[in-house]
Formats: sequence, C-alpha cells, structure tokens
Amino acid sequence: MRKVCIAGNWKMNMTPSEGVVFAKALAEAVKDASVRVVVAPPFVTIPGVAEALQESSIEVAAQNMADHLSGAYTGEVSAPMLKELGVSVVILGHSERRALYGESDAFINRKVKLALAEDLDVILCVGETLEEREAGQLETVLKRQVIEGLKDVSASEMSHIIIAYEPVWAIGTGKTATPDDANSAHAFIRSEIEKLYSKSVAESLIIQYGGSVKPSNVKDLMAMKHIDGALVGGAALSVEQFGPIVRYNK
Ligand code: PEP
Repeated sequence: MRKVCIAGNWKMNMTPSEGVVFAKALAEAVKDASVRVVVAPPFVTIPGVAEALQESSIEVAAQNMADHLSGAYTGEVSAPMLKELGVSVVILGHSERRALYGESDAFINRKVKLALAEDLDVILCVGETLEEREAGQLETVLKRQVIEGLKDVSASEMSHIIIAYEPVWAIGTGKTATPDDANSAHAFIRSEIEKLYSKSVAESLIIQYGGSVKPSNVKDLMAMKHIDGALVGGAALSVEQFGPIVRYNK
C-alpha cells in the first residue's frame, strides 16, 4: 500500500514571520490528515516553520540543496545545514530550477545521491514542456529525466525517493493535465522504474502529480490508480486551499 504524500512548494513566498503564522494555521487545519504532509518554505523561512511544526506531523522540506557538503560555494545551502534545522525532505530538479538556473540531469543526479547519503528523502521532479509534448517527446523526456536523475541510486535507496510528475505547461498556469493524461504519464514512469529496478520497487514508488492542483480537481486526480499524491505550488500558499487538498479524502 503506497502512503499518499501531499507537498506544498512555497517557492519564493512567505517571509520568516509569515511562514510561522501560516504553519501554525495549517497544522490546526490538517491535524486529522491521514496522508503524509510536507511543506517546502524558502531557506530563511525554514527555522521558524520547523519550530512551529515541532508538535505536528507535517514535515519540512527544502526546495533545493547544494551539490557539496561544505566549502567555498557562495550562496549555497548544504544538506547538513538543512538537517540541523529539522528538514527531512528535499525537492530536486524542479522545472524552475531546470529552466531558470540551467540545472542539468547530471547536476540534479549529484544532488539526489548526496541527499540520500545524508539521509534526506528526495522529491525528484520530472516533466515535459508544451513543445516537447506537442513534438511527441513526452516519453523520451520522462525516460531521460528518470534514468539520469536516478543514476547510481540503489534499489534500497528508492524507498527514500518520491517522483513528482509535473508537466511544465501545467505549472502555475491554471491548466491541469486531465486525470487520464496524468495517470498514463505516471504509469509510464512506473514502468520505467520497473525496468530499472524491479516490480516491487515500482509498485512501492510514490508518484505525485504537480501542476495547478486545486481543491476542485484534487479528488479526480487522486482517484487515478498511479497518482499517489500531489506537489502543489500556488494553492499551497493558502490554508483555505491547501487544507482541503490535504483533506481530499475526508
Ligand atoms: C509547482 O511549482 O511544483 C507547482 C505544481 O505549481 P502550481 O501548483 O502553482 O502549478
């Protein structure tokens, strides 16, 4: 049985003080949740949020991480620094990191391996652009991102990996993939994982859908066989929206 995971990516929103107020309200709103709930604040907002969520089961994630443990890497934040703050999960390979900051599959893979070695769970984001989809490259792109992102990740480490399928054209645009389209992309990713690892690794893998998830569409998405959770951007910034997404099954 795969445990559903709903994660909120705050991106570059929420100052440290706003984050604390938000985290306390969210913890109250989802205290009866039966799913794994994760929030990913900006780095500077993490300490207050982690403290505010200490009594809650909501986990704190980072939105990115350095590909080194320490040293002369101006502006970077390392896995040990994040762990000391109580971070348990890191989002890697988000399409904004790929598109705006030029992160390659090989670079993302280095960070995936480092995060796993540091006992952090990873949400590895994959997804095609509109041009790639229209050019019939959906499966080629997903296959490349999965194979290269997970290079040298062992079968036992796969229990610490979540894959988030996020079609780039659906992120922050209000356009959501239909549940059937999302489900077939998830089924494809699961079949690739089976080829790379085994049926049991593939069957246990949590695959989140991301791209304009809202209270109004989460139920239909979550009803699909291969959709095991959501990575939520815009709607994760409001307790009125993120609360009902987390409580989609109540
Ligand atoms: C995201 O950034 O991961 C995302 C899915 O954003 P949104 O929900 O706003 O589309």
